[in-house]
Amino acid sequence: MGQGTHHRLRARVRAPSAWPVWQLPSWLAKYLFVLITVYAGVVAYAAITGAYSAFDFEVFGLMLACGAATVELSRRAGENVGLISDLYAVWELPIAILLPPVFALTAPVLRIGLSQVRIRKLPLHRRVFTAAAVGLSYGAASLAFHSVGSGLGVAPRPGFHGFLWVLVVAVAALVQWATNLGLVIPAIKGSDPATPVRAALLTREVMQNDVMELSVAILVTFVVAISPLTVLFALPFVSLLQRSNRHAQLLNASRIDSKTGLLNAGTWEREAAAEVARAVRTRTPVAVALLDIDHFKAVNDLHGHLIGDQALGAVARTFKIFVREYDLVGRFGGEEFALLFPQTAVADSYRIAERIRNHIAQTPIVVDGPGSEPVRLTVSMGVAALGSSWESATGSQLTDLVAAADRALYQAKQGGRDQVCMITDLGMPALRAAPGPDLVPDVVG
Ligand code: GH3
Ligand code: MG
Ligand code: MG
Repeated sequence: MGQGTHHRLRARVRAPSAWPVWQLPSWLAKYLFVLITVYAGVVAYAAITGAYSAFDFEVFGLMLACGAATVELSRRAGENVGLISDLYAVWELPIAILLPPVFALTAPVLRIGLSQVRIRKLPLHRRVFTAAAVGLSYGAASLAFHSVGSGLGVAPRPGFHGFLWVLVVAVAALVQWATNLGLVIPAIKGSDPATPVRAALLTREVMQNDVMELSVAILVTFVVAISPLTVLFALPFVSLLQRSNRHAQLLNASRIDSKTGLLNAGTWEREAAAEVARAVRTRTPVAVALLDIDHFKAVNDLHGHLIGDQALGAVARTFKIFVREYDLVGRFGGEEFALLFPQTAVADSYRIAERIRNHIAQTPIVVDGPGSEPVRLTVSMGVAALGSSWESATGSQLTDLVAAADRALYQAKQGGRDQVCMITDLGMPALRAAPGPDLVPDVVG
């Protein structure tokens, strides 16, 4: 066995002391440990005290098979990220309502284990924690249904009884949702204290998704209670929902630069090209500004890449202060940004750029990290405007504008950085503009 193989093996089978779980804050590691222990205890208790029939195992197997099918169908697209849940409640809620609690408690284990093997390897403690939290939440739903609806029986009857039955199932579904949330929030908070949990959970997207998931789960539970095999008719519908869900997520992710929340380069170019074409058509002014952070490599070298990333985020937030809703702001790549100002007079686009430059130069960026000092940045900007020379724009008008802005940016760098230069007539060399808005009319006029 060669050295390389040996190293690879060593990397794969990690000693317990190297498990990533030890990198968590110690209270969080304790929380995980307690929760998983409680879960194991509850499962053992439920397994010993429960009574099962062959029918229970058949229904359980059927629902697990549907869950496994859903995992397999999402292999290519991957799992949902963040707080958008998948649609597994559709298969797991019926288990919680119709079978003894031990089935509800253990159903998520198989599905989550399968996700780990088939979709994506995560640190094992995260998978185990998720399985325990989700399992306990379905255990709570089972308990809720069997205590609130104890008089209703396991199967709904036509008419009013069926309606009442569904209402109690809905209550149990809410209990599951709330329990899961309550158990998971400390873990989200603990692994990334910066996450604004309230704001993240109350987004319309997350709420809509949860309501949709639980509604379908309640309907499927009703159907399965009457005749388990009818669940097979839900499978195509659920996989379609899953796919459309993911499609919306991917679409959003592919539009946005994840580090800064701005448009990514491709999206910016596409939308900017449309704006410039419209400006030429309607003979309205339009301007493009390119911004490059000065000596950013030194910021990374001095403070590290993580702080550098925070600085990029801070620059991105600065744009929000000065640009209007319909301006296009994108990250071009690295520490370069592109802005497009539609229907903006030449002098105004310069003024906006100058305000951005000035604000960044005046505002030290507060970063978090042990003992980090505020980071001071300056930026250079190049602005190119299409104000009165629409005819001179040939070929791809956006490319011309960006090329001109790039020339202006180069001038700003050459001129000593921390300044804005602009070109008002494409094809002309960049006009140098010393900082100070009172100089603008001279430059432009
Ligand atoms: P100047 O533009 O003033 O000429 O100097 P500079 O040091 O900014 O120029 P250069 O373009 O050579 O270096 C850009 C640096 O930006 C290189 C790289 O380390 C850093 N960088 C690019 N992308 C990222 C990123 O996503 N995160 C962090 N932290 N740094 C990045
Ligand atoms: Mg650069
Ligand atoms: Mg730079």
